[in-house]
Amino acid sequence: MKERPIVPESEILRQREFMKLVRAMDRRPQSYHIVSMGCQMNERDSESIAGMLEEMGMVRARAREDADLILYNTCCVRENAENKALGNVIWLKELKKDKPDLMICVGGCMTQEKGMAAMMKKNYPFIDLVYGTHNLYRLPEYVWRVLTEKRPVVEVMDIDGEVVEGLPEARASKFMAFVNIMYGCDNFCTYCIVPHVRGRERSRTPEAILEECVRLQDQGVREIMLLGQNVNSYRGGGAEFADLLYRVDRLGIPRIRFMTSHPKDLSDELIHAFGELRHLMPQLHLPVQAGNDEVLKRMNRRYTRAHYLDLVKRLRSVCPDIGLTSDIIVGFPGETLEQFEDTMSLVREVRFDAAYTFIYSPRKGTRAAEFPDDTPYAVKSERIQRLIELQQAIALEALEAQVGKTEQVLVEAVSTRDAASVGGKTPRGHMVNFPGDISLIGQFVDVEITSAGRNTLRGRRIEQ
Ligand code: SF4
Repeated sequence: MKERPIVPESEILRQREFMKLVRAMDRRPQSYHIVSMGCQMNERDSESIAGMLEEMGMVRARAREDADLILYNTCCVRENAENKALGNVIWLKELKKDKPDLMICVGGCMTQEKGMAAMMKKNYPFIDLVYGTHNLYRLPEYVWRVLTEKRPVVEVMDIDGEVVEGLPEARASKFMAFVNIMYGCDNFCTYCIVPHVRGRERSRTPEAILEECVRLQDQGVREIMLLGQNVNSYRGGGAEFADLLYRVDRLGIPRIRFMTSHPKDLSDELIHAFGELRHLMPQLHLPVQAGNDEVLKRMNRRYTRAHYLDLVKRLRSVCPDIGLTSDIIVGFPGETLEQFEDTMSLVREVRFDAAYTFIYSPRKGTRAAEFPDDTPYAVKSERIQRLIELQQAIALEALEAQVGKTEQVLVEAVSTRDAASVGGKTPRGHMVNFPGDISLIGQFVDVEITSAGRNTLRGRRIEQ
């Protein structure tokens, strides 16, 4: 991973001047609504976007319809995410007829796709601002230009990304936080658009990451998730990811998690960290994608089934209770029935707590989009159905195995199904609901697990 430049402080200060200029304007949006699509990295970007908009004097609107500025932070990993974003934007065109001053902004991975910005400029002229993934930090300048020039601004930078420090932020949670440690990806898995829209790998310095963690800890944050497209290839200021993890652990934040990990880069040191670090939670998202070597090769994953299974064995030898989750693609071009059965047998062997399963979706600009694919969609659908049923049965058994245990739960929210219950996660990442009220949110509570449902556990609070 090459060292990447940090956006100069003078540029961030310049953007802060634009925030002040917008704030001082009489006719400017007073409220905002952000639609964040896709992964946790987008969610974290949305917190920076919210921070910038609030510095510009806007408040979070109660609903999308109430907002003066609506921003779509888009995803393009799968085609349906892209279609959903474009469909939503068309709906906004109608809203704008009743509300001509509504400012519509679209940014994120979708706009960074080759040719997308030009297409949007031509076909969606009612969009006021289109920006990409590499120039998000210039949002204040663009909002100011839209307001003063009174015409759409479309600016997507082709250059590879830099590291941005010092943006304002409005965090979504007071006690759980995402912390970016690196951006971009160098792996070029043949099905994946991420390296094309998020750029090459670049890491933040350990000092900047630790400073952010200490700040969050001082603010009362009790769980952090270190984020990157491939955290295992983190290289910041000479430190590798395991070194960084040991340093973050020493801060004493009660819970640390991280994602996403690439199996080819999971180091021995990182495996040992699961046996040694006090605050590192026994949970790992380790996307396997397929259980057959030939398919893995065509995906350019650069590991084998045997290597993956060996990682699982070693992880479980240092941390027997570790909860593993994964991503799996079904129907990759040319996947035979036998190759699919290898994926099924790997799932039976590893016994994931959860797996995000997808039918392969070709993305323009990736190598796999050119691969011949003669498997009918109906066959792929039937395969994924079998995989989902298998995975659900395994997940249920993993949940049932928790019944009778007492687990420490960090309470996240009131249950959406039962207002007299709250929910939160165990160290392993299982969601538990139990009777309780809003005052418990953000607290650690000992809960005895009393039953298992399809996706969640049920429990009762053990009074101290
Ligand atoms: S490791 Fe592969 S799947 Fe993950 S972001 Fe990079 S290219 Fe995409």
